[in-house]
Amino acid sequence: MPPREIIRIENLYKTYTMGDVEVHALSGVSLVIEAGSYVAIMGASGSGKSTLLNVLGCLDRPTSGKYFLGGQDVATMDDDQLSAFRGRTLGFVFQSYNLIHQLTVIENIHVPLFYQGRDLADCHEHCVALAQLVGLGHRLDHRPKQLSGGQQQRVAIARALVNDPLLILADEPTGNLDSQTGLEVLDLLDKLNADGKTIILVTHGDEVAARARRVIVMKDGVIDHEIHRDRRTAPASAATAATATSAPAPATPPR
Ligand code: ADP
Ligand code: MG
Repeated sequence: MPPREIIRIENLYKTYTMGDVEVHALSGVSLVIEAGSYVAIMGASGSGKSTLLNVLGCLDRPTSGKYFLGGQDVATMDDDQLSAFRGRTLGFVFQSYNLIHQLTVIENIHVPLFYQGRDLADCHEHCVALAQLVGLGHRLDHRPKQLSGGQQQRVAIARALVNDPLLILADEPTGNLDSQTGLEVLDLLDKLNADGKTIILVTHGDEVAARARRVIVMKDGVIDHEIHRDRRTAPASAATAATATSAPAPATPPR
């Protein structure tokens, strides 16, 4: 069976207007991403990575161009439809975790379902299973402040998974973590990808991008070039740092 296309972007532009000045954050990006991919987006600061991720995540609309997510034309949806669609189809992981400090681990994982009107009591087992999946089954009643950074990011990943999303979008997910803890979070993402989840991640780090089979390098609002790695040369389930570093390192993006 041919790989299923999960994202199709055609000639996408995003222009911000600041007073009299137009900032062209994206200037004609076209992109197809298949289900089950692990894609890293790299590039210098200001090259348009976050803008692209925000459009991909339906957090922002393009100025022009087409965006099909899961076969659906995002432009045809009004804001309410789009936010409902986003809730069902996407999971987000941010550099700063974005957990709710007053809530426990299990309550934080439940948040996206809460917004869909589902009580924790009804989906408790599902949320516990996700806490276990990310290795926090013994920390259900802890609050974010009582967890390490790596543990907080793992809660955020469990939360991103709670809707069984089509894809996971991560903006610098290891940016606030020490390197060992970062590796644990990357191992978890590897495991999710090996289980079939599509992952798109923005990163500055070559060692982070080395986990991805496809690296998209942005420059001045366009895709400058791409690096493709074969499954055979970059094991999808790089369970240890040793296997990850044995994968060929991507070329350093132009700065
Ligand atoms: P990156 O994530 O690669 O650092 P961004 O996507 O954040 O780059 O930004 C791309 C360009 O768009 C930059 O020049 C930035 O200053 C500009 N930009 C991003 N967001 C906004 C905004 N909300 N308003 C105006 N300009 C913006
Ligand atoms: Mg950015």
